[in-house]
Amino acid sequence: MKIVVLHSGGLDSTLAFHIAKEWGAEIFPLYVYSKFLALKHQPVIPDLKIIDVTREFIDIVRSPQHGYGKNLNPCIDCRILMLKKAKEYMEKINADFIITGEVLDQRPMSQRFEQLMQIDKRAGLEGLVVRPLSGGLLPETIPEKKGLISRNDLLGIKGRSRKITLDLAQKMKVERFASPGGGCLLTDPGFCRRLADLMRYQDKVGVRDIELLKIGRHFRLSPETKLVVGRNEEENETIEKMIKQGEILVYVPDTGSPNAMLVGNKKQPIKIAASITARYSDKKNDKSIEVFYKDNRGIKKVRVPAVTNEELAKWRL
Ligand code: SF4
Repeated sequence: MKIVVLHSGGLDSTLAFHIAKEWGAEIFPLYVYSKFLALKHQPVIPDLKIIDVTREFIDIVRSPQHGYGKNLNPCIDCRILMLKKAKEYMEKINADFIITGEVLDQRPMSQRFEQLMQIDKRAGLEGLVVRPLSGGLLPETIPEKKGLISRNDLLGIKGRSRKITLDLAQKMKVERFASPGGGCLLTDPGFCRRLADLMRYQDKVGVRDIELLKIGRHFRLSPETKLVVGRNEEENETIEKMIKQGEILVYVPDTGSPNAMLVGNKKQPIKIAASITARYSDKKNDKSIEVFYKDNRGIKKVRVPAVTNEELAKWRL
């Protein structure tokens, strides 16, 4: 018996993975990744197949067919996409079915009975998704009907409490899994604020735009321009590396200063960008601060005072 395990790196799918191993099945772990997920959540297991769905997912986040959760998390559409990818993989390797670590009623948006059934149907996988942690409470699946697994192989866990699954992990000696929360940036209100701004002002959102949302402080200066200011050494380096043609690197020389990236091609508000960058430099209390800005034509200078907190609040995302 060959099984594709949709693995997220978290406790539940790690348990599902280990349960399937106990069945003596040949396991094919699959991680459906997008840039909206934190890398630290990636499962660390051998033979992990990774499919990056960032591009497809960006379109889904912009207009999800089944709506958003509390933030910009389109969980139902996301699960459908993940299962569609799992289906393609299952068919490619000729596996018998798919398992996931979902627990009935654990998440309000995507793990209620009706939603689980709807997601399977929309992914074209009716009866082919086995959920070992809650399967005892769900309709009989095709692998059960075929005798590949039996109802006794499936548990009847339900609800939001993690106590039962944590106890199970202890019993099964499962120690390596990502902690809950923080895995999906689409549930993070700060990230979603920046993303909503991006989708509002930019018709085309690319993978690089999403990468940029993950770093720095963001300021919307005009419909066409945005400033991203590094918060630490690592982000300053990333900003310098990410700058591309038409964008401007802003910094205060010879002092502790962030690197800032002025994004957007039209009518760049250099003075405002310089003034915000100066506000985060060690010279912020000087009356007039010399700020450098660099584009593909070279380096120029401008003198500005640091922006006040009141002004800053107008632009900050
Ligand atoms: S929390 Fe994020 S990764 Fe998880 S189902 Fe929702 S959108 Fe997808």
